[in-house]
Amino acid sequence: SSSEDEGEEYLFKIVIIGDSAVGKSNLLSRYARNEFNMHSKATIGVEFQTQSLEFDGKEVKAQIWDTAGQERFRAVTSAYYRGAFGALVVYDISRRSTFDSIPRWLDELKTHSDTTVARMLVGNKCDLESIREVSMEECKSLAESEGLFFMETSALDSTNVKKAFELVIQEIYNKVS
Ligand code: GDP
Ligand code: MG
Repeated sequence: SSSEDEGEEYLFKIVIIGDSAVGKSNLLSRYARNEFNMHSKATIGVEFQTQSLEFDGKEVKAQIWDTAGQERFRAVTSAYYRGAFGALVVYDISRRSTFDSIPRWLDELKTHSDTTVARMLVGNKCDLESIREVSMEECKSLAESEGLFFMETSALDSTNVKKAFELVIQEIYNKVS
């Protein structure tokens, strides 16, 4: 890369949305700190975590926002979405109602976001295969009809967690660079 590229920095805000208890906070703590909490409380949690990555020798900082449980009251504010370049829209593969909520979350995201947001549909808790209520095919079909990336993850056993976040970050980088 040429010398004027060096030191160039990007900061991307990414939001995590989806119904209560689908595993949003644990996806973030698994990604940012490699931690999982079986008894996490909705009230605990920081506003956001920042992860640094490098693409083409340029530093990319992903500022990943987690709700503080407001989703229980359907009260995620517009400030939460403001300036977001990416979103992980999460449901729990073992709870059909959380998948049924996805269109509502996508609408809310559209209403509140100003740019073309890189969106990933995330079916979390894929370790709970024995009590699965949403098939991979349904996920894929919704993702294709809405133009979303999709992935099944497990914050518990780490399946695809890094991949899901980093694909969104990569997609944002591709758009802006
Ligand atoms: P949030 O309300 O969406 O932030 O969900 P949390 O991250 O607080 O998780 C809700 C509950 O689901 C907690 O008891 C977690 O331990 C559990 N959980 C989160 N991710 C997973 C996962 O991938 N697999 C399983 N089995 N449980 C999970
Ligand atoms: Mg949470």
